[in-house]
Amino acid sequence: MPRTSLRPAWVTALLLAACATTPISGRQTLIVLPATEDVNLGAQAYDQALGDAPRITSGAQFEQVKRAMDRLVAALGSDDPGFPWEVTLIDDPATVNAFCLPGGKMAVYTGILPVAASEAGLAVVMGHEIAHALARHGVQRMQLEMGKQGLLELAASFYPEYAGYSELADTVMTYTVSLPWGRGDELEADEIGLILMARAGYDPREAAKFWERMSALGESSTPSFLSTHPSHGQRIDQLNALLPKALEIYNGDRQQRSVNPGAVGG
Ligand SMILES: [Zn+2]
Repeated sequence: MPRTSLRPAWVTALLLAACATTPISGRQTLIVLPATEDVNLGAQAYDQALGDAPRITSGAQFEQVKRAMDRLVAALGSDDPGFPWEVTLIDDPATVNAFCLPGGKMAVYTGILPVAASEAGLAVVMGHEIAHALARHGVQRMQLEMGKQGLLELAASFYPEYAGYSELADTVMTYTVSLPWGRGDELEADEIGLILMARAGYDPREAAKFWERMSALGESSTPSFLSTHPSHGQRIDQLNALLPKALEIYNGDRQQRSVNPGAVGG
């Protein structure tokens, strides 16, 4: 009997873990879980996160959120790991927030719509949130905090014989929604989001404007998902530095669209 068959599944997974390159930013990461597990973890937590929150499923606001999501996801192209991307609009004007769980399940609260101000502003927030899932920030943080074995055990607990459903969802929520992101993750999400919105045909100059509006809300009303690290100034500096590259993508694609008016975007 070959010795390999005695290895627990998590040891095999550890051996299979390899350095991966984050799409768009090009950052190298080492994540022990395959991306298919992000989908499982996120799906569990999504049900719990949404609970019986009042949802908006039609009308102008809903159409705008849905359209921005469709365009951003289409703009991922071959960078899409095949996540089942989905967005839910929650009717909660007092909550200036949005989040995206591992595997691509997103929630947008109506409270952020006035700050977004337009579909392009919405694409700033949603592109940033898609970036957290795409770069697998939540799973990386869980791996850092729980250790590789803990993360693998958590993922294994997804499977049907497991009874601790809400515990699993709580853990995923804690590491991907409740705790503020670190500075590096935030800046990477800004970078990926900026390129993504430009690819989707949204003017990337709107990104810095969105963060300025968010900054004007003041520290006390800044939601936890927009942690105080990096500062709004740091974000805007980075966005300005990346703007020429984003504008090149935006303008290049616009030219293509005018040559070929049938192409998606606008
Ligand atoms: Zn973020």
